[in-house]
Amino acid sequence: MEAALERTASDFDVLIVGGGMVGASLACALGHRSLHIGVVESFPFGAAAQPGYDDRSIALAYGTRRIFEGMGLWPEIAATAAPIERIHVSDHGHFGATRLRAEKYGFEALGYMVESRALGRVFSTALAALPRVELISPARVAEIETGSDHMRVRIEQEAGARLVTARLVVGADGAESSVRRWGGIDVRREEYGQSAIIANLTPEYPHRNIAYERFTDSGPLALLPMTDERCSLVWTVRTEQCATVLALDDREFLARLQERFGTRLGRLRRIGARASYPLALVRACRYTAPRLALIGNAAHTLHPIAGQGFNLGLRDVAALAEVICDAAAAGQDVGASDVLARYEAWRLRDQRQVLRATDSLVRLFSNEFTPLVLARKAGMLLVDLLPPAKRMLMRRAMGLAGRQPRLARGLPL
Ligand SMILES: Cc1cc2nc3c(=O)[nH]c(=O)nc-3n(C[C@H](O)[C@H](O)[C@H](O)COP(=O)(O)OP(=O)(O)OC[C@H]3O[C@@H](n4cnc5c(N)ncnc54)[C@H](O)[C@@H]3O)c2cc1C
Repeated sequence: MEAALERTASDFDVLIVGGGMVGASLACALGHRSLHIGVVESFPFGAAAQPGYDDRSIALAYGTRRIFEGMGLWPEIAATAAPIERIHVSDHGHFGATRLRAEKYGFEALGYMVESRALGRVFSTALAALPRVELISPARVAEIETGSDHMRVRIEQEAGARLVTARLVVGADGAESSVRRWGGIDVRREEYGQSAIIANLTPEYPHRNIAYERFTDSGPLALLPMTDERCSLVWTVRTEQCATVLALDDREFLARLQERFGTRLGRLRRIGARASYPLALVRACRYTAPRLALIGNAAHTLHPIAGQGFNLGLRDVAALAEVICDAAAAGQDVGASDVLARYEAWRLRDQRQVLRATDSLVRLFSNEFTPLVLARKAGMLLVDLLPPAKRMLMRRAMGLAGRQPRLARGLPL
């Protein structure tokens, strides 16, 4: 790193690279403590151009609600969220369906749908009120160098470069994470050959807070309940078909969608802007390196089939925030290797299980090979008939399985 760069006084305890949904959540969780936190974000923070806060809607699991409650952010999020009270899973061209109902298990909702832009507004407001969090944006982390008792980080801004130090650097910089690369962490990447098309639409009948997941010949499609009787569409198509499907006019697009989804919600109409995302499974081989930790998409990027990516990332946030706060309270260096080892050991199991389950779902439900079709029908039937299997699946999907962080248990950090 250029020695000529002048060292500024702004040394951080924790420097978070990436102010998307996951990085911003960590800053909100840590911002009430006596730690000095920095967040570097390439795009102007909270601006519409920021890629993490685009037109997509996010299904928040019940466990995620608990974590946001622990962070004091839930009332603002709930004001813009629609509850998912039931989930209906079916297979295009085959009879039968699996149904999950919140009330049957004593929950008010299985999850909540919220627009990512609305989440962005909540984080922006919360961060602006935290004096110990410094937002550095638009700015790009250009280089990181590991020292024995701190990291040296070069940040590029329009006004010039700035060199800062931090005890711990957190990579929350998404699927193509540079922090991961600087940490020398290898990654495994598997392309699905599928893309997700998203849009909001208004069906003829009220959605009654039911989330529909339907498996079709091109891949899974979901219609998820939103506020104002709108539904959020996530339609997986094969990547080679994506441009053609996106180019259809609204009438044609809705006709194709209707043919695959059926008439449970009456006529599908009034569709908004469409966007598409190529889908891949990306897993970091480790989640930590000396003085460096990965969270969210930088650690794992999943297929949206089960709506687990952000939920998993928020559980990373809750666990990392807890080990950092415990270390700080004990007067320990927050970037020490045993602190990071605690984070990695805690998160490994949950991350592996969710990654494996999501990947298996994609492969099982994107395949028309007859034995697999029979296997998934048998699986759906079994889940529907066996209450313990259903309950276990639900607890995992709701983010309530395994060791729960203090934030999720209503305890202070
Ligand atoms: C179609 C679709 C539907 C989805 N639905 C759901 C769902 O229902 N439920 C769910 O839980 N998840 C869902 N997900 C997954 C969820 O969107 C992601 O898990 C989540 O957005 C990841 O957030 P992140 O903050 O980790 O990464 P990102 O959103 O990628 O944010 C990374 C940030 O880092 C910044 N950055 C990158 N490099 C640098 C640098 N060098 N310096 C400074 N800043 C940098 C970027 O500008 C960006 O703002 C869905 C995903 C898709 C594609």
